[in-house]
Order: sequence, then C-alpha cells, then structure tokens
Amino acid sequence: MKRFFIICIAFLLALSAVGISERNEVSMIGEGESYQAFPLKGVKIGIDPGHQRKSNNQQEAVAPGSSETKAKVSSGTSGVSTGIPEYISVLEISFMLRDLLCDLGAEVKMTRETHDVDISNQERAIMMNEWGADIVIRVHLNGYNDHSVHGMGMYVRKTGAYAEESAYLGKLMLTEMEKLTQAKNQGVFKRDTYTGLNWSEVPCVLAELGYMSNYEEDEKLNDPEYRMLLVKGMVNGIIEYVYDMGVL
Ligand SMILES: [Zn+2]
Repeated sequence: MKRFFIICIAFLLALSAVGISERNEVSMIGEGESYQAFPLKGVKIGIDPGHQRKSNNQQEAVAPGSSETKAKVSSGTSGVSTGIPEYISVLEISFMLRDLLCDLGAEVKMTRETHDVDISNQERAIMMNEWGADIVIRVHLNGYNDHSVHGMGMYVRKTGAYAEESAYLGKLMLTEMEKLTQAKNQGVFKRDTYTGLNWSEVPCVLAELGYMSNYEEDEKLNDPEYRMLLVKGMVNGIIEYVYDMGVL
C-alpha cells in the first residue's frame, strides 16, 4: 500500500512537470504578433525614471574624461494642466513598464523606486553598467516654452559605445508607440550632451514620452489608459530589438 502511494505521488509530480514545460512553450501576446510566452526571458533591462524629488545642482563631468560639467540631477518639468511634477509621472510610468517587462520574463532593475533619492545621472549610468544591463530605458517627459509643441522623441548618444544600436532601439520603440497612441513621432535625436547617455556602456535611450507643457498631452500623459498604450508600444519595440539584434 505504501509503495502504491509513492508511485501515485511520483506520477502526479511527473504530470505537473509536463504542465510547467508546456506553459513555457505557449505563444501569442499582443495583436497580430506572436511571441513565445516569455519572449524577454534572460534579458536584463534597466529603467531609469528621470529626476527625483529634489534636484542636485552640484556638478559632475558630462562624459568620461571631459572637463565640461553639468548639474548632477536637474529638477525636470511639470504639467501645465495637471500641475503634476515630471518626477512623479515618470516613476508611475516606469512601474508600469517594469511590471509588463517582468510579466514577459525580463529581469528588471530600476535606478530608483522612490522620489527621495539623490542619485546623479552619472551614478545612474554607472549603476546600470555595473549591473550588466542589456539595454537601458530612461523615462522622461518633456517641457517647452511653446505650448503648442507635442509629441514623443528618443534621445541617444551620437558617438561612442552602442550609438547605432541605441538609435535603432529608439526608432523601433517610437514606431510601436506611434502605432498604439497616434501621438506625433518626433524621431530620434542624436546628442553628445547628455551625461546619463555619455556614461552608459550599454545600448541606452532617453525616452521623452510627450510634452507636459502641452495642455492636451499633459492630460493624456497622466491618464492610466494612455500610459498603458505608451508602455505596450515601448515593450513591443524592445521585443523587436531583442530578436533583431540577437540579444538572447
Ligand atoms: Zn526629464
């Protein structure tokens, strides 16, 4: 009798093991695209929610070996309609991005999970380099004097490590976000003036997801449904990049 129970338990364990392996092979996410269940399994993705509660105007080198300096962390913008500061909106969007990436199997590390930190742009880049991120997404919202300006753009380094790869990642993410949000696609801007990009040693994009200085866009950027469209677009672009570039 005892042996019978042991055989039964072994049989049940074998069945559950089959169940687990089958679940790993299930495909299909998103509309019109088919991926395996965990398309980002094994990919290390860094998320840097821009800014923090208090800016830090102490200076740091804008690039390795450069004598030019910039403030460690600027204050960021705030919503012209909602009044919400950028550092709050970008952290909320970053949490949504993290959760979706984790659901798809990615390993995610964030530079900050609260507003009360003091981490410079250089330190954020080095944190991700040392962690060994495959890609880094810096999440920001834009502001401009002309309130009519709206749309989303990607900022990447012009020269140096992974400049081309970063531009390609930015382009894919923008294209996918545009499909879901119909927001204006401003394109990819190549700049060597961003401390956080210059210190990065991995493919890295600074995503400006919209203008908080535009009344209509500010409202959208603080709407959970619109945010989810942005996040899904970003994730679709990341998945395309990972498979195109053979990151896995
Ligand atoms: Zn910003």
